[in-house]
Amino acid sequence: MSFDDLLAANREFASDFAYGGFDGVARAGVALVTCMDSRIDPLGMIGLEPGDAKIFRNPGGRVTEAALEAIVLGVHLLNVQRVLVVPHTRCAVASNSEEVIRERIAESAGVDATWQRFHVIEDQVATLGLDVHRVTSHPLVPETVEVGGFIYDVDTGLLDRKY
Ligand SMILES: [Zn+2]
Repeated sequence: MSFDDLLAANREFASDFAYGGFDGVARAGVALVTCMDSRIDPLGMIGLEPGDAKIFRNPGGRVTEAALEAIVLGVHLLNVQRVLVVPHTRCAVASNSEEVIRERIAESAGVDATWQRFHVIEDQVATLGLDVHRVTSHPLVPETVEVGGFIYDVDTGLLDRKY
């Protein structure tokens, strides 16, 4: 398999490209931290379009060091005023133990995977609370920035605010 199909689609995409020359600020003042899950459309779920928001994704939608880095950049340089932290229902890293995930990876890779760290989530709502706190307590995130923690339901498309 090569990238030919994707590059063909890219030429099509670029043929009526509307974002040339646009700056990189978050036009709607929004930053969103969410999971890599393919069922999530981070802009569509909150009615936004390209150019409106900063999106940071990783397994589980966790507020990692890199996510905080993105949020601080967003808040100070890219017009971010609201931050949404959005893990989701039926997330693989919130419904399997680290051991089980390692076993499955080892099975697929055919080699030992016990050294690979996976940040599994045992209590999704409690973890979301900690992650929201990580943002609000960051010394470079001013109190004027609104931070919310939500669970996205991949079966209804609805966001449920928890924090
Ligand atoms: Zn997920």
